[in-house]
Amino acid sequence: MTGGASGIGRATARLLAGNGDAVTVVDRAADAAEETAREIVSAGGRAIAAPADVGDEDAITAAVGRAVDEFGGLDGVVTSAGIFHGGDMRPLGEVELDDFLFVLRVNLAGTFLAIKHAVPHLVERHGAIVAIASTAALKGHGYGSGYTASKGGVAALTRLAAVQYGPRGVRVNCICPGGVDTPMTQGAWDTPEARERIRRQVPLQRVAQAEDIAAVAAFLLSNAARHLTGQTIAVDGGATIA
Ligand code: NAD
Repeated sequence: MTGGASGIGRATARLLAGNGDAVTVVDRAADAAEETAREIVSAGGRAIAAPADVGDEDAITAAVGRAVDEFGGLDGVVTSAGIFHGGDMRPLGEVELDDFLFVLRVNLAGTFLAIKHAVPHLVERHGAIVAIASTAALKGHGYGSGYTASKGGVAALTRLAAVQYGPRGVRVNCICPGGVDTPMTQGAWDTPEARERIRRQVPLQRVAQAEDIAAVAAFLLSNAARHLTGQTIAVDGGATIA
């Protein structure tokens, strides 16, 4: 579970652990990753923290190794580590290449590395992958060139991996959340007015919580989704079809 120290990743780690899965919390925020793992263990679940920067191949190799050593193999991977970046949040013509690449390194290369190093273990146990992209992969949000390109890339990688590893028993799907109430969005959603505006933009007229995304991730990892692969599922209260 990458990005398991916060937001969607933490909610997914909690839900999976509550369902009886052993969870490895991979996140660059080491203390918060330990906190997620500790909380799960205190509630009677199984979890360890394996702090790592997802853009660092050696660190990801080590984190996957820790998960396999501790729990005997891998049945599922959720890639939720991701960032917004100030330098990327301006019109494309004003984005510096370094800022664009900074976002791609975490959101896209980080997803690639997690899949690359987990998939040999998933093949052994016919496991599944859920990549967290964004509705930015489906429509022009109007901001974030690196963010949008990275999330489109995650959806494309999902399809590629699904085709390559489906015959070896591994399913790969992608969730595209709309706006979700997490630390990532808190700066922009702080005022009641902003939250109300966001709520009204969504056909279901609610502000998504991390648990809304976690529930779909858990479904996609489960045997109930055994005939589902290569899909990009918008979990956005209907925002992209409105
Ligand atoms: P969050 O900020 O609460 O959590 C993101 C986590 O990723 C953090 O724990 C952070 O430490 C970790 N992370 C960031 N860079 C990392 C790196 N280099 N290596 C390891 N860990 C790293 O955000 P969130 O809202 O839970 O976002 C989770 C995912 O969902 C992201 O990929 C994000 O792009 C996507 N998403 C979020 C929203 C939203 O509105 N919150 C909408 C669409 C998609």
